Amino acid sequence: MTETTAEQVLQELLECNRRFAEGCLIHPRQTVARRLEIAQVQRPKAVVVTCSDARVVPLLIFDQGLGDLFVVRVAGNITVDVVHGSIEYAVEHLGVNLVVILGHSSCGAVTATVSGGKTAGQISSFVNAIQPAVDKVRDHPGDTVDNAARANVGMIVEQLKTSEPILMRYLDKGSLKIVGAYYSLTSGLVEVIC
Ligand SMILES: [Zn+2]
Repeated sequence: MTETTAEQVLQELLECNRRFAEGCLIHPRQTVARRLEIAQVQRPKAVVVTCSDARVVPLLIFDQGLGDLFVVRVAGNITVDVVHGSIEYAVEHLGVNLVVILGHSSCGAVTATVSGGKTAGQISSFVNAIQPAVDKVRDHPGDTVDNAARANVGMIVEQLKTSEPILMRYLDKGSLKIVGAYYSLTSGLVEVIC
């Protein structure tokens, strides 16, 4: 069997996303048989790091099934250590060759960061992580929240692409692709942005 390349996986996910956007979900690989088939071992086709936002659900957005996606969700889709480690685990131990960092429109975490002000409890943990992206686009034309959400994705992708030793090893071998993408809550479409 020929191994599926990261680019092929990406194109497949984008194609399935168009299906979702058009309201034509087929809910593949969600049967009892599929559950049993993968009970002993998982071989996800991609890692998707995205926001905890209740409207951003990778399995639905990409119309995938059980065992298809290794999903890491955290407010603002930031890559704190445990997220970073989860990505490395999927690449190193599960053989995943595609990592998608998926930001989205109207992100509450980005909005909170743009709004500034004091945050209670541990909310500052993701606000601080998103702040550099907000600073980067502060004077740019257009919607600051949208621009910052895209910049946040871009900065995370750049950071992961220079991540030693695990991710760099696979990137250097050409067996790993890391892309940034953006999901529109209204159109339902995912676009690759970097
Ligand atoms: Zn969000």
